[in-house]
Order: sequence, then C-alpha cells, then structure tokens
Amino acid sequence: MRIFKEAAALSTYLQQQAQQSARIGFVPTMGALHAGHLSLMAEAQQDNDLTVCSIFVNPTQFNDPNDLLKYPRTIEADIAALIQQGVEVLFLPEVEEVYPSDWQTPHFDLNPIDTVLEGAYRPGHFDGVAQVVHRLLHIVQPHRLYMGQKDFQQWRIIDALIQQLVLPVELVCCPIARESDGLAMSSRNVRLTPHQRQSAPFLHQVLQHIASQTPAQSPAQLRTWGQTQLKQHPDFRLDYLDIVDGGTLMPVQNWAESDLIIVCLAAYLAEVRLIDNLILIDKRTK
Ligand code: AMP
Repeated sequence: MRIFKEAAALSTYLQQQAQQSARIGFVPTMGALHAGHLSLMAEAQQDNDLTVCSIFVNPTQFNDPNDLLKYPRTIEADIAALIQQGVEVLFLPEVEEVYPSDWQTPHFDLNPIDTVLEGAYRPGHFDGVAQVVHRLLHIVQPHRLYMGQKDFQQWRIIDALIQQLVLPVELVCCPIARESDGLAMSSRNVRLTPHQRQSAPFLHQVLQHIASQTPAQSPAQLRTWGQTQLKQHPDFRLDYLDIVDGGTLMPVQNWAESDLIIVCLAAYLAEVRLIDNLILIDKRTK
C-alpha cells in the first residue's frame, strides 16, 4: 500500500493513474477502523481499479472539544487492516495539508438539511463535514465516493453538496455494518464500559420494533413510542428520535408522503454519543 502524507504528491499520483484509465474509488474516514469501514473499502474495490482511503480526524467537524480529544486513534492497526484488505492508497495528512493557509472553502447553502437532527445538536458540525469532504474530493478527484448509511444525514449533506457544485463524482451509500447483537459498528463503541456495551443494542431494538409496526401504526404514534422507550431507559440520555423524509429530513405525518422514510436517533450512554437509523419505507426506483 502506498501512503501519502502530502496532498500535492497524492494528486499527482492519482492524476497519472486516471490518465491511464484507472477508475478511482474513495473512502474518507477518521480512522479507528472497524468492519463497517472495511465494508466500504470492499465495495469500492469491487467497483473501481484503485481504492483510496483517507484517515484524517477533522478538527473542524467536532463541536465538542472533549469528543475530539477522546476520539480513538489506532493508526498502526488501521494501516495493518488496510494492507490486509488490499487497499492500494492511504492518504494520511496533517491538518496543514488539508487546510493550507491559501485554501478557501466556498460557501455551501445546505439549509435546512444541516439544521435538523444532528445539526440541531451539533452546531457547525456539517459545515466542518462539507468543508473536509469538499477539500478531499479536490485532492483525490475520485470517480466514486463511498459513504455509510450509518451517518445518513452526512450522506444526504454530501449528496446535496455534489449536486450544488455539480461535481463529477458518483456518491455510493453503503449499508450499516452491525455487531451480532445489532449494535451499529462505530469507532466510539470502544469507549463503552462493559455495562454500557450490554445496554447499547437497545437502540437497534427500538428501531427494529418501529420497523415492525410500519405502516400499521402512524409515524406520530411510533415517534412517541420510541422517544418514550429511550427516555424511560435508565442508561440513555436521548438527544432525538425522529421519523423523517429521507430527502428533506423533515418529520413525516403519514407513510405515503415520501418514497424514502427513515427513523433516525442519537442518544448518550454516559458520555458516549451514539447514532443509528433504519430505513422504514423505500420506494425509490433503483
Ligand atoms: P468515520 O470514520 O466515522 O468518519 O466514518 C467513515 C465512513 O464510514 C463514513 O462514511 C461512515 O458513514 C462509514 N461508517 C461508519 N460506521 C459504519 C458502519 N457501522 N457501517 C457502515 N459504514 C460505516
């Protein structure tokens, strides 16, 4: 695996590869890689000639300095996992490479999809996400970009950004990889105590119950039921649970309102914030 720390050197190398007709797939990450990340790499490897992974803990998307400080960093294990996976290129930049002093981020108009759900609880978070993905796309210039449904709103934001800037890249949304007990894989899971780890799959159980009652019960009934479950559980502190249109991210009132309806939640287990979601209605033409 080739490891690049400099943006210019990576761009030059990838441009040469593209000139030789290589299709480039790109998977941006913040490291502490798990099987969920590797499933994105596998999908990229299947579709493209060359897979590029980036590992960069982007400071501009952390609204909580403590979260940034405690974000797990396991670079040696990450490199070993990427080599084992057969990923060809790793971009491992310092902050100055991603945000050089002469780099100007354009203004993205993401309103209102960046103000709801995660956006309401993590002010500025999606500005940071849009900023870093835009910059990384500029450096890598991939044909396809792979992101996880785990961060559904993030996927939707990048989808909007690509449309707004008419960027020549295909965005691929990959399914959520879960532990055998249903907990969505996350780099933050390693911070859970054994007791919290045992409680954590409750999030997925709530989502699954909501899916099992769709469409027999209304969105309003299931929204209230789910919120009550998490508010009553002694281990969780609920930020939000909502049932929304997958395009506008606005709450839905009935199941016929949209061809994509999704239940999204965020909750704290002690100081670890977990997010998860499940698609309830998907009538999109594939
Ligand atoms: P992160 O390192 O958390 O920024 O995640 C990098 C990419 O991996 C994002 O596109 C995430 O949505 C995706 N991802 C994270 N967790 C999972 C998971 N459990 N299953 C699938 N993709 C995931």
